[in-house]
Amino acid sequence: MGDSQIKMKCPIEVLKMVLSREVGEDTLELVQFLKKNGETSEFVLAKKLKEDVNGIRNQIYRLQKVNLVKYSKKKDKEKGWYVYFWDLKLENFGFRYHKILENEILALEKIIKRKEDKEFFTCKNNCVEINYEDGLNSNYTCPECGEALDLCDVKKEIEVYKKRIERLKQSMDKYSSLLQ
Ligand SMILES: [Zn+2]
Repeated sequence: MGDSQIKMKCPIEVLKMVLSREVGEDTLELVQFLKKNGETSEFVLAKKLKEDVNGIRNQIYRLQKVNLVKYSKKKDKEKGWYVYFWDLKLENFGFRYHKILENEILALEKIIKRKEDKEFFTCKNNCVEINYEDGLNSNYTCPECGEALDLCDVKKEIEVYKKRIERLKQSMDKYSSLLQ
């Protein structure tokens, strides 16, 4: 997929999610500026975004750490020093977006498995989750509050997790084109 196609297909929803999880949402303005304008020097970024250059460098540094930006160096003919021009690695936003969702799904599946594998008891105040044996040993009384322990119905809870997984999978499908 060409750069311009990725640009169109990398919506703000994806940018926001990746930035809020991995970089900090304060970088959104800078990222949107680069998405719109392409390669830009730190100095122009500072001017356009009304920030000092160090503030811009700090944001760029955080983006670079997770490989979401690239640069090219150009020598300033008058001053003789190098100026850095930054641009986004938009394709990596797509990859990271999918990776984040994938990890979330895996974590939820683990929770479901753990819940399905084990029956457990809890009191009406939900102080504790106690396994079958410990429930038996504690005479079906909560060690924290003394209320009766009941077998916990995890089916509803598992349903909630499954729905969440469904939604995550839908988001992945929606933006699967970012991976091509
Ligand atoms: Zn209790």
